[in-house]
Amino acid sequence: MVTVLKPGVTEEQIENLCNWFSTRGLDVHISRGHYQTIIGLIGDTKKIDTELLESLEIVEAVKTISEPFKNANRKFHPDDTVIDINGVKIGGGNFALIAGPCSVESEEQIIEVAEKVKAAGADILRGGAFKPRTSPYDFQGLKDEGIKLLLKAKQVTGLPIITEIMNANHLSLFDDVDIIQVGARNMQNFDLLKELGHTKKPILLKRGLANNLKEFLMSAEYIMAGGNENIILCERGIRTFETYTRNTLDISAVPMLHELSHLPVVVDPSHSGGMSRLVKPLSLSAAAAGADGLMIEVHNDPKNALCDGAQSLTPEQFKDVADKVRKVYEVSR
Ligand code: PEP
Ligand code: MN
Repeated sequence: MVTVLKPGVTEEQIENLCNWFSTRGLDVHISRGHYQTIIGLIGDTKKIDTELLESLEIVEAVKTISEPFKNANRKFHPDDTVIDINGVKIGGGNFALIAGPCSVESEEQIIEVAEKVKAAGADILRGGAFKPRTSPYDFQGLKDEGIKLLLKAKQVTGLPIITEIMNANHLSLFDDVDIIQVGARNMQNFDLLKELGHTKKPILLKRGLANNLKEFLMSAEYIMAGGNENIILCERGIRTFETYTRNTLDISAVPMLHELSHLPVVVDPSHSGGMSRLVKPLSLSAAAAGADGLMIEVHNDPKNALCDGAQSLTPEQFKDVADKVRKVYEVSR
């Protein structure tokens, strides 16, 4: 349920109303927009007499929210959420490019890629340290050593970094990481999501391989329910009957998520298609669909990459994509 307040209500009136909601056991979420203040109510709203609420002088309207996701819902927070990572903004008209290798492999590799993607226009450096691999015999990542190397690359280039967490017990290793990634396979690892809800770190949450948008937003809700509202949603392709591509990029998820939620939406064209030649067309479509950013795998030597070389761009190919997607994003707004 949301309570839309009339323009010009005072802070004291808002506080009094919130206290009244609290006495009925409800949590409140206040959204102060340009024109209106909205109070979202979370909990058993049957305890509220809606007619009484509507009759209050400061209340303009009371609306019920049928969707199970509340904090993530645009009805709770009509303005776009903007995530600010040391001055790099994502969402609300700010487009960000995240680029880097699937996995951190060595100091030379990550520093070289970081410098090259920065020169090509990347805003944030990616690199997997803990890798969720289908086979236990494949390269599993450099783990804590990988995070240390990413931090070195951050120091050298000044780029904020993003890397994936697989286990809440590793959280202390992520203290200096700028964005924590939750991979597709962990989208419904609810214990992990709850732990991340107790941090203030920006979280990039990837859509599960076979999850619908409601389930995706409910996973964001798990993190937000704990108090962390810094979420970036990432569409990375879903499993369909198609076999020519690694996954199927659900491009309609971008405008649909924007309609349903205020959270920024980025697209990962690398894991969507699984082939480097598909990255450019998928990136351009994502920018045209209004994505708030892209996460693209880039490797200095894709043929010899320890993970996902087939879908990785060279830094030169990345530059071409980076230049063009920004133009498409601008004309599509
Ligand atoms: C990744 O980004 O490195 C990754 C493993 O992606 P996903 O979780 O989308 O498969
Ligand atoms: Mn990968």
